[in-house]
Amino acid sequence: MKRIVLVVLLFIGFNSAIAQDRFIDPVDIESIESKVNSFISFMTEEELDFLIDYSNHNSAMAEFWDNDSFNPYGYNPLKKPFKLTFADTVYTSPILINKVITSRYGWRNRRPHKGIDIDLVTGDTVRSLLDGKVRYVKYHSGHGKTVVVRHSNGLELVYAHLSEQLVKPNDLVRKGDIIGKGGVTGNARGSHLHLETIYKGNHINPEYIFDFGKNNNIRSSTIWVSDKWMTPYLHSSKRQSTIDIATSLEEANAVKANTLRTHIIRKGDSLYGIARKYGVTVAALCKANKIKSTKILKPGQRLIIGL
Ligand SMILES: [Zn+2]
Repeated sequence: MKRIVLVVLLFIGFNSAIAQDRFIDPVDIESIESKVNSFISFMTEEELDFLIDYSNHNSAMAEFWDNDSFNPYGYNPLKKPFKLTFADTVYTSPILINKVITSRYGWRNRRPHKGIDIDLVTGDTVRSLLDGKVRYVKYHSGHGKTVVVRHSNGLELVYAHLSEQLVKPNDLVRKGDIIGKGGVTGNARGSHLHLETIYKGNHINPEYIFDFGKNNNIRSSTIWVSDKWMTPYLHSSKRQSTIDIATSLEEANAVKANTLRTHIIRKGDSLYGIARKYGVTVAALCKANKIKSTKILKPGQRLIIGL
């Protein structure tokens, strides 16, 4: 079936060239159209939806398409907030067992942890959360054996530390299709799935998009992503940030940074003591406030804690 979808996609590409009135005789257009229609008539409604979804979004799908580079966009800061849309309301769990989150997106051991860790046993099957197209299947430093799948809205999901990769670049996958087996390759202590959500080269906290509870909900069909959901040091890898989805530009602008927790320094406070009180690290406090750990705190100053 995948081959037929590909053929039809090619025809659609061909058709859009025709629509721009290039190089093809009108008689040929009719014959090509009738061939496309006969292909389409073989497809189930579900397959047709899949195809239409792809052709509607194909600029996001085609942009910087590269099977060799983990991040083909390079350094690509986006204007924020920006909108992500989802045709589905639920995703398929990447694993068959209950999801146990062992580490979250956020500041961890003085470094950003740009994904979420889901516990599994080496050899457990790993499935695609959504319909998509496999962009990258390689060993990537730190990530180990990695599969990256791009979805029709441009979002990419990274599946890392796999023991086996069971898809090829440019394969179309449906949600729930097996893409590999979990493992411990790369920089991983103990077997788990490290899952990242990346939009045009920019990491987003996966929990802002997906609810990793047992209902596998996508948090909203429209999600506005602002800076705070992309900045690791505003989150702790040890606990879930309070999640309040912005579903419109107005909401996204309203919450821009005003949900940040702050602490007003009192006499006798130390960075270490404040970090402990709020369950964050001194390194995260320093990053969030753009200060050094040796900074002398003055009573009355306001420190940003995080979300
Ligand atoms: Zn991880």
